[in-house]
Amino acid sequence: MIHFDNTYLRDLPGTYLRQAPDVAPAPALVVLNESLAAELGLQIDDPVGWFSGAVVPQGAEPAALAYAGHQFGGYSPTLGDGRAHLLGEFLGPDGRRWDLQLKGSGRTPFSRGGDGKAALGPMLREYLISEAMAALGIPTTRSLAVVTTGETVLREAGQLPGAVVARVAASHIRVGTFQYFAKRGEMDKLRTLLDYTIARHYPGVDGALGLFDAVAAAQARLIAQWMGVGFIHGVMNTDNMALSGETIDYGPCAFMEGYAPGTVFSSIDRQGRYAYANQPLILGWNLARLAEALLPFFDADAEKAVDLANARLDGIAALYRTEWVAVMRGKLGLLGEDAGDGALADDFLEAIQGVDWTLAFRRLSGAVADETAFLALFGDAGLVTAWLPRWRARLRGDAAAAMRAVNPAVVPRNHLVEAALDAATAGDLQPFHALLAQIQNPFGAEAGREAFTLPAPTGFGRYVTYCGT
Ligand code: AMP
Ligand code: MG
Repeated sequence: MIHFDNTYLRDLPGTYLRQAPDVAPAPALVVLNESLAAELGLQIDDPVGWFSGAVVPQGAEPAALAYAGHQFGGYSPTLGDGRAHLLGEFLGPDGRRWDLQLKGSGRTPFSRGGDGKAALGPMLREYLISEAMAALGIPTTRSLAVVTTGETVLREAGQLPGAVVARVAASHIRVGTFQYFAKRGEMDKLRTLLDYTIARHYPGVDGALGLFDAVAAAQARLIAQWMGVGFIHGVMNTDNMALSGETIDYGPCAFMEGYAPGTVFSSIDRQGRYAYANQPLILGWNLARLAEALLPFFDADAEKAVDLANARLDGIAALYRTEWVAVMRGKLGLLGEDAGDGALADDFLEAIQGVDWTLAFRRLSGAVADETAFLALFGDAGLVTAWLPRWRARLRGDAAAAMRAVNPAVVPRNHLVEAALDAATAGDLQPFHALLAQIQNPFGAEAGREAFTLPAPTGFGRYVTYCGT
């Protein structure tokens, strides 16, 4: 039994449509996140029934939320939950409020041409990557369960097993939620949404400007953390950016292996708009869209409102840089703060071009005592041999231990994710569970699990991800 308390539906009438999930014909439980359920104080009496749409849990009020969004730069006025159902909200043991949502659970009035469904592979991908992000200490929605539906869904690859992921989020309020009401000129709803978002996520901040500043800070920190682990979201559309500052909507995301700023995995991102090194720029672009939506509440005088917005947007790059340098200090084991830390980090990146991102940082922690394994990563170690003495001169305290605590040995490696999802689609869940167990312990020692720490074999080729639909 979950004690639901559905404030979004109560407080924001006209921003959603009530819609029950489809009932899956022959559901089966694939994975249940028992530790998350325990952490959140959730008693999941009937996982198969609840997450397959067969049983609406008592107190749940299924609904599809309205939102819009800029997708690859172009505005789509009506997106909304086209294959997701918010079941409701509950409070965790610490009093924090969470959404429980199903994804892949059937058509809604926002489905447009889509079937409202999801294939097992992409839902397990969301489960795996979001749990990896959580274990890495990066704000994210969490995955509570995946069930197969017993249906097949038709995708480019053919008929695939259908599935639903149950996920938990601080909320599902997106930049695109604000855009939806702003662009329609529904100012009363926009005002209510603003007040609701402040109360739910940033209580005490001062109005629209305070909310904007809090969201900018949270998202700048989030993107800096993504960059630190080499995470590429792949679809940083404004509808996939949560006001809470959590990573949301895992589609064609993946972790970079060889460091290259232009890395793109998604097959649909042909221009590289959401490439690794573009993510901080898109952060600013998306925040500009949020500022536009909030403009009427920045100041009653339109000109003054624009000036207030511009002053803030001009500061995003510096805000992000501060967060990024803080992340890099941790990764490079730089205790305390020196003025040259940012440049030292920039020069490290210059020196590791083409080298596996995760291994470069992880082995650098070992280089405090012995550089051999670290240097073995380089064909031509010219740049990095010049860099190492500068880094050494900057070290103080127990850098190696501090570095091992923030630089993972294990991230979800592309070839292992692919193999796990392929096997699961064919009915074998063993590789998925084996990988899941490893990504839940990212910072532990390498010994005994070397296969999970190494990049894809060269034969794996260029990795391409397809949209999570
Ligand atoms: P995404 O890129 O997965 O975040 O989705 C973008 C938009 O497309 C959202 O409005 C989704 O609800 C919608 N969508 C994605 N896949 C489907 C589907 N299979 N059926 C209906 N709507 C979908
Ligand atoms: Mg989305």
